[in-house]
Amino acid sequence: NPLPNDLAGPAARHVTTQVMVGNVAVGGGAPIVVQSMTNTDTADIAGTVEQVAALTRAGSELVRITVDREEAAAAVPHIRDGLRKRGITTPLIGDFHYIGHKLLADYPACAEALDKYRINPGNVGFKNKRDSQFADIVEIAIKNNKAVRIGANWGSLDQELLTKLMDENAVSAKPRDVRAVTREAMVQSALLSAARAEEIGLPKNKMVLSAKVSAVQDLIAVYQDLASRSDYAIHLGLTEAGMGSKGIVASSAALGILLQQGIGDTIRISLTPEPGGDRSLEVQVAQELLQTMGFRTFVPLVAACPGCGRTTSTTFQELARSIQDFIRVEMPAWKTRYPGVENLNVAVMGCIVNGPGESKHANIGISLPGTGETPAAPVFVDGQKFRTLRGANISGEFKALVIDYIEQ
Ligand code: SF4
Repeated sequence: NPLPNDLAGPAARHVTTQVMVGNVAVGGGAPIVVQSMTNTDTADIAGTVEQVAALTRAGSELVRITVDREEAAAAVPHIRDGLRKRGITTPLIGDFHYIGHKLLADYPACAEALDKYRINPGNVGFKNKRDSQFADIVEIAIKNNKAVRIGANWGSLDQELLTKLMDENAVSAKPRDVRAVTREAMVQSALLSAARAEEIGLPKNKMVLSAKVSAVQDLIAVYQDLASRSDYAIHLGLTEAGMGSKGIVASSAALGILLQQGIGDTIRISLTPEPGGDRSLEVQVAQELLQTMGFRTFVPLVAACPGCGRTTSTTFQELARSIQDFIRVEMPAWKTRYPGVENLNVAVMGCIVNGPGESKHANIGISLPGTGETPAAPVFVDGQKFRTLRGANISGEFKALVIDYIEQ
């Protein structure tokens, strides 16, 4: 959706060094990559293969899996094989904490099967040995030609570094508030670790940085700072975003502002799933965020009005839901058959007030009759009135018109 010329639009993308994670480019002007993470026990090979496959189907371009113990490390190459047998080549990222150095050293097939290692500078090992354990992981990455994400996290921040900065702040002539010092510790933790990794020999084009926080304003400030002080590829994510609408709103607000400022090369929306809920919702939200902001297109957008007192029957909501579901279900087949179909805009509107106008802005749109209006639903194609649908099968007829439009 190109923006009209008189709108400034997003800032130019922050220039970063491109990193290849498997066959996926991150940063350096590449399209912003959507990623997600499994919540299966990685030792459960079949369950993890199944979930990586589901996340891939949903559109996750990179998938992270926890590698927390020996059984998980041993399972990783089998997971890779299981995915390969299904024709799935989505790069896998191993998430390591505390004993990552040991797992990667003891399970070389795991180190080889992964495309990137995520390490947390706050818990890369145990006190006093942290530096050597960090170096061990970096050296294994260099040997295997793998990328590394250095992922600082507010909840597991390097306590030594934080204490040092707090002490310096306490005697400073212009002390800053505690949150500002903590934000600085986040940024420094990521940057100092990246500098150390480079000293060891990991090139910049093998490193992605993140500094995740759970509060929106802190997250924005931390990433602005991180971007202004480096050109490493950046992974964006609001950590511990929460469940349902709270998690979606908080992540979209924080990431939307940063993306608009040109910051972010890959994003993950961390949502706590409802019990038994679908993990792939976080992929859908990430895609919709990028698409609604005009950065990428993944699936045709359905614009629908919220409905009001003029839509007292459920026909309008049912049609909007049915068209949206229909598009999501058909999309994998359409993408192969009709390249570019993801750029389609569809409108489903509830009455004559905004219905015809909004429908004219879409590629194809329908305006249902509101309460008291003539029971007729005009369909607009490329801004022109095309046909009027009536009767009990408006939904079926409109779907057929959508397919006709795509085919043509
Ligand atoms: Fe209500 Fe009509 Fe506006 Fe939809 S388009 S919100 S039905 S007035």
